[in-house]
Amino acid sequence: MSWTALDALGADRNMVAARINGRLMDLATPIAEADDVEPVLIDSEEGLYILRHSAAHVAAQAVQRLFPEAKLGIGPPITDGFYYEFDVPEPFTPEDLKAIEKEAIAIAKSGQEFRRRVVTEDQAVAELAHEPYKLRLIGSDGGAEVMEVGGVELTVYDNVDRKTGEVCWSDLCRGPHVPNTSYIPPNAIKIMRSSASYWLGDQANESLQRLYGTAWPSKDALKAYLTFLEEAERRDHRRLGTELDLFSFPEDIGSGLAVFHPKGGVVRRVMEDYSRTRHEEAGYEFVNSPHITKSQLFEKSGHLDWYAEAMYPPMHLDAVVDAEGQVRRQGADYYLKPMNCPMHNLIFSARGRSYRELPLRMFEFGTVYRYEKSGVVQGLTRARGFTQDDAHIYCTHEQMAGELDSLLTFVLNLLRDYGLEDFYLELSTRNPEKSVGGEDEWNQATQALREAATKQNLELILDEGGAAFYGPKISVQAKDAIGRTWQMSTIQVDFQLPQRFDLEYQGSDGTKQRPVMIHRALFGSIERFFAVLLEHYAGAFPPWLAPVQVIGIPITDDHVDYLEDVAAKLRHRGVRVEVDTSDDRMQKKIRNAQRAKTPYMLIAGDDDVAAGAVSFRYRDGTQNNGVAIDAAIEEIVTAINDRVQV
Ligand SMILES: [Zn+2]
Ligand SMILES: [Zn+2]
Repeated sequence: MSWTALDALGADRNMVAARINGRLMDLATPIAEADDVEPVLIDSEEGLYILRHSAAHVAAQAVQRLFPEAKLGIGPPITDGFYYEFDVPEPFTPEDLKAIEKEAIAIAKSGQEFRRRVVTEDQAVAELAHEPYKLRLIGSDGGAEVMEVGGVELTVYDNVDRKTGEVCWSDLCRGPHVPNTSYIPPNAIKIMRSSASYWLGDQANESLQRLYGTAWPSKDALKAYLTFLEEAERRDHRRLGTELDLFSFPEDIGSGLAVFHPKGGVVRRVMEDYSRTRHEEAGYEFVNSPHITKSQLFEKSGHLDWYAEAMYPPMHLDAVVDAEGQVRRQGADYYLKPMNCPMHNLIFSARGRSYRELPLRMFEFGTVYRYEKSGVVQGLTRARGFTQDDAHIYCTHEQMAGELDSLLTFVLNLLRDYGLEDFYLELSTRNPEKSVGGEDEWNQATQALREAATKQNLELILDEGGAAFYGPKISVQAKDAIGRTWQMSTIQVDFQLPQRFDLEYQGSDGTKQRPVMIHRALFGSIERFFAVLLEHYAGAFPPWLAPVQVIGIPITDDHVDYLEDVAAKLRHRGVRVEVDTSDDRMQKKIRNAQRAKTPYMLIAGDDDVAAGAVSFRYRDGTQNNGVAIDAAIEEIVTAINDRVQV
């Protein structure tokens, strides 16, 4: 018997594989004394990857047991799970999925050993004669998603029955896998769904059925994941957008282009108003620019060189052609703008600038259009038309560090005001192969960003060489209420555009100087931030953002006038209030208000009228009866002004 990684590391049920001299390998791999061997644990990123990929084998075996005619496609691990593809005559039904799961659980329990076997190409071709798709992979190096080939050797993994030693099932795979199928906890495997796909993702190829599943180190981990998925589904902004009547994507307008309904419009206006106020306080000046422009502008900015694919195609306008077909006047191409920056540069250079004007901070809610591929368009988070809360800051080199520092503080504080609290920062640094600007400039800007980030006492992740060619960047990543990370704000230094637009200011010594340019969008786009907040709050916006802040609920029609008076007083204080005067019974009105996630219900009956009071009912179902009208108004107004989370 040879000495294996398992022998070196000692048996441990939490250990699923080994890292041998830096490579992920099976625990049964023979090793030499000089080899460097480290354990790979089941709950590590790599361990989960191996667990889930091993579960993909188990699922595929289950499918072929139940559907012997199924031909195997590929079966890689993916985020939080795995898939396996099959060529089957009929799509899987929900009953099929249940049966496959049951079979997979039985295979996991049986503890079949994963046994690795090196084969030659000829052997593999002979063994896989009945698997036409696997045959096509032999001789190729696969791709990112192909686990079958691409290792140092061509290998087949046999699933061996531990009692009889019989080979139950085999698959072409580069591995590694867990030692045996019982390492996949049977109560932590789930077949999730299936959908149509194409061989190797190419529409020109055969149509296959892709089976999605997941596997976790324990039953509890699976349960937590399923709860998370349910919660994410419940919070899906597209669903809430319809349920709460906030926005829609009419087909007549086109993919990725939203309309905001009155209630969504209110939330959006409040978000914008608050942002405007804060920007005004922070010394920003407000500018406006058009939605379309002649191509010259984007030639000058360089966008047509490196960004044209993400732009809507041009409109050719103003050409004059006579009856003979002679061109009398050349027209021009107009583009919808994908970015506001070039236009802001034109505002900067509209007249001479002095150092006394710097830093000059230009802000605009600028609507831009990007021709996202239809496959990636997704609700408000990836739209084709959206409004950026865009600002460009022009400053001197000496001012740059201070600007970046105060900017980052401003950005984080504003995000906190909207209710996000958990952040980390990512710093993207220079890729020397592909960058404009001098090394000194880059070092200075990167150092300034790093110092600004370090002061925030937040986790800082380095994205070495990940910056765009025109300058280093900090991005703010925010975690939402269920722990999902969203990229929010970006602060981008730009060494390129000031050059391309020949931006200048007159320095204190009278010489011409080039300003530093900083781009920053805080929300990214209003639409996307709207979606993030909607999902973060699961539709229950805090009072200051809620489209309807208070709803009056009369116990009978006799109490309508009384509540209308209270509502008028609230309205006078700027509160968004409605009185439910519908024919519905009171209980139904309460349910409707709960469904609309209205922060405050004010209920009034005879006792309240007699006492000059109202009864509060809050979103969590708790109630506070007999509150004097003035006190009720103060409670609501204070909560709104303080932007409390309730
Ligand atoms: Zn495999
Ligand atoms: Zn910009």
